Amino acid sequence: MTENSNKKRPYQQKARTTNGQKPYYGKKFDPRKQGGHSQKTSEGVDVRVGQNFPLTIKRLGINGEGIGYFKRKIVFVPGALPDEVAVVKVTEVQPKYIAAKVLKIREKSPNRVKPLDEFADEVGGFELEHMTYAAQLAFKKDVLVQSLEKFQPKGWSTYDLRNTIGMENPYEYRNKAQFPVRKIGDQFRVGMYKRSSHDLVDLPVVHTQNPATMKVLRTIRELLDKLSVSIYNEDKNRGTVKTIVARVSHTTGDVQLTFVTNTDGFPGDTALIAAINQALPEVTGIFQNFNPGRTSLVWGDETIKLWGKDYIEETVMGKTFQLSPRAFMQLNHTQMSVVYKEALSALNLTHADKLVDAYSGVGTIGLSLADKVGEVRGMEIIPEAVDDANINAKINHIENAHYEIGTAEELFPKWQSEGWLADALVVDPPRTGLDTALRREILRTQPEKFVYISCNASTLARDLVDLTKAYKVEYIQSIDMFPQTARWEGVVKLTRRDHS
Ligand code: SAH
Repeated sequence: MTENSNKKRPYQQKARTTNGQKPYYGKKFDPRKQGGHSQKTSEGVDVRVGQNFPLTIKRLGINGEGIGYFKRKIVFVPGALPDEVAVVKVTEVQPKYIAAKVLKIREKSPNRVKPLDEFADEVGGFELEHMTYAAQLAFKKDVLVQSLEKFQPKGWSTYDLRNTIGMENPYEYRNKAQFPVRKIGDQFRVGMYKRSSHDLVDLPVVHTQNPATMKVLRTIRELLDKLSVSIYNEDKNRGTVKTIVARVSHTTGDVQLTFVTNTDGFPGDTALIAAINQALPEVTGIFQNFNPGRTSLVWGDETIKLWGKDYIEETVMGKTFQLSPRAFMQLNHTQMSVVYKEALSALNLTHADKLVDAYSGVGTIGLSLADKVGEVRGMEIIPEAVDDANINAKINHIENAHYEIGTAEELFPKWQSEGWLADALVVDPPRTGLDTALRREILRTQPEKFVYISCNASTLARDLVDLTKAYKVEYIQSIDMFPQTARWEGVVKLTRRDHS
């Protein structure tokens, strides 16, 4: 499958005005001048749930929701765009904010488009699908501006903030589909939950998914129905199949299929596997994960192979990675490569360098860079991922990389104190950002080459307050990993202040 392949230069938006359109955030609002998150609260504003009023939208908040002011109180309106005038209905009144929904748009933004996905405003994952893609990319740069403005790390107002690198086709990029399966009364559904509800939309068309994953889900749904396989009923906490996970390799097109089950056994699995083999030759491995009871976690601890290959293989920057069902891999293969290439070009590595791959997952970053440096060490808290990283090193005949189980905040200082001093450091933390102890150690030892890959502009800006005591931000490159959603990702190049 090559739907996501993107050989040409990725689409890159120009400045904030595109095609002669107005800046998406509105004429009067300049996020650098006004308080990014300042909430003009005035207690005692007379407003009730259910009340309607017209509202002018000034800007977008960090979750992609429209923001306007009613009697100087901040109002969040999902789905409304800057410059629009909407009649809204209040859904929630809180001391610090009002939430409302759009009843009618009176004046439409030129950046408004019709979402491709029918359920875009009901299920999660399509927070920006009603905007042109150019406006989405500009929004992602502005999310960063808002975060920097809030935390104000040293020199923030003059940082080189590079225009978001987008995708040529900002759809079909999700290589994994993870859909709950439920029996509700007599009805059988495989789908997506509506926001803050238990209402399941039955197999909507999802344009952001790789079509191979959706084809597999639809076929599996038919087979489960035809073969009367036991389906989970949440009310009764009975039945077997709870969730279907289909993951496609961008490189080979192979699909790895996992049934998450409520029961230890899997009645009817032999016939089901035979039927899958016949209908879906692209499925190369079938697994069962046991996760009993009512739980909000998708995966249980135990995974067994029912049939086929143990892994699917993915190629990242010329290296091969074997992925077992639970092994983490970025959802967007095309943009993941863009992120890694950005990290590489920011680092200027030499063969003398010792590189630390912190928050390493299955080692994709460190192993991609191993042949450019003397030695790689990485760390990660999930033991299986560390095993995978070391296996991946072997498969690729990489002998200068080694991964350990542990937190970055423990192992990085430990290695340094043992005399193994990093010349280059890549951090790729989860949304919570860097631990204080890690920041302290970075400031103390100051690796010469330092790249921060972040998936949360807010914790990045917070961490930069500390890091800029010793480092200068050369630039921040935003990269759109999740088109149609409000999620931000970026690569920061940092250089030592005393480094001349
Ligand atoms: N670099 C990888 C994974 C990034 S996701 C990639 O590009 O694919 C962040 C990873 O950090 C997760 O795998 C998570 O398990 C791990 N992690 C979370 N907290 C950690 C900590 N304190 N120290 C080290 N790793 C941590």
